[in-house]
Amino acid sequence: EKNVFYRDTWAEIDLDALFSNISQIREYLPEDTHVFAAVKANAYGHGDIPTAKTVLAAGVHGLAVAFLDEALAIRDAGITAPILVLGATRASDAGIAARKNISLTVFQIDWLQQAEKFITSDSRLPVHIKCDTGMGRIGITDEDELRKIDTFIHQSDRFIFNGIFTHFATADQLDETYYNKQLSRFNHFLSCLETLPPYVHAANSAAALCHNDSLFNTVRIGIAMYGLTPSNEIKDILPFNRKEVFSLHTKIVHVKKLRAGEKVGYGADYTASEDEWIATLPIGYADGWIRKLRGFEVIADGEMVPLVGKICMDQTMIKLPRSMSVGTQVTLIGKQKDRFISVDDVAKKLETINYEVTCTITNRVPRVYK
Ligand code: PLP
Repeated sequence: EKNVFYRDTWAEIDLDALFSNISQIREYLPEDTHVFAAVKANAYGHGDIPTAKTVLAAGVHGLAVAFLDEALAIRDAGITAPILVLGATRASDAGIAARKNISLTVFQIDWLQQAEKFITSDSRLPVHIKCDTGMGRIGITDEDELRKIDTFIHQSDRFIFNGIFTHFATADQLDETYYNKQLSRFNHFLSCLETLPPYVHAANSAAALCHNDSLFNTVRIGIAMYGLTPSNEIKDILPFNRKEVFSLHTKIVHVKKLRAGEKVGYGADYTASEDEWIATLPIGYADGWIRKLRGFEVIADGEMVPLVGKICMDQTMIKLPRSMSVGTQVTLIGKQKDRFISVDDVAKKLETINYEVTCTITNRVPRVYK
């Protein structure tokens, strides 16, 4: 049954915040700019279907995912909006994508020749051509490849030329040198086409919100709609009031007083230096609350308290300033009383980016929608 779980550890997903973030982004962009929302990786850990439904209600035009399985899961949930698969797909899976009206990313002439055989005559596969302008990941790198692909798509009755796009490697940096190089390469690719497809897109969140020369007619927004900044460098120039959508909570399952000299956790490498109140939380590295977070401070009854000892697979210990009762809510990410732990705070402790933090909280942690 939905939303029934028996362990008090959960991620709260604030769909009002998500809606508000998207509304503000859409207000900031020119009205005729299409927004594709990046809901890959289970919507960056927020839950793909509820996220997709909310952002579509907030006016986004389509959805972007990493691979075909993610797109099919969204179609199976009854969502009929345009879906673009950003990554590579097997040529032999072109048929199912066509039947489900899912757009695929293409960048190899061989792939198209192969894929054509798998698309039945009663369906057509919408494709977006990917240009590699400097990301070095997937995409065509020269204009001859582009011309060949363009010609092939036009002479075939199995494909619809639906879009062309590229992806920036440095849109989240203040220095625009590399960004400008990529943008001019993309513009050059566009100039090689006789007619442009319906969707022309380059911008991710950072480009869409912090540069205004790469919007074309469509943008792909991920991180910003989750209320997170694409990088610390551009944090202060993001043109809207971000509200973080993701928060993470648990409840104390045990509290005890340790005497000075007593130990906590594997390796017995935390030692109470005096009498200390230690509580146990039912969350651990198998939930994505990984061992490197040792020492991080979380919020218990409105107070900042440190994680002590090694984080276990399913449990984590914290040091309390005083006794608290079993069942006290502990916030690991998000707001509690007048305290707030940002996803960025966790990212900083983990020496990584905020994107990785929400993606890393595993499916063992139920997502609760508010
Ligand atoms: N477009 C592509 C091709 C991507 O890979 C991603 C995410 O990594 C996005 C758009 C969304 O980027 P962001 O979350 O920075 O807005």
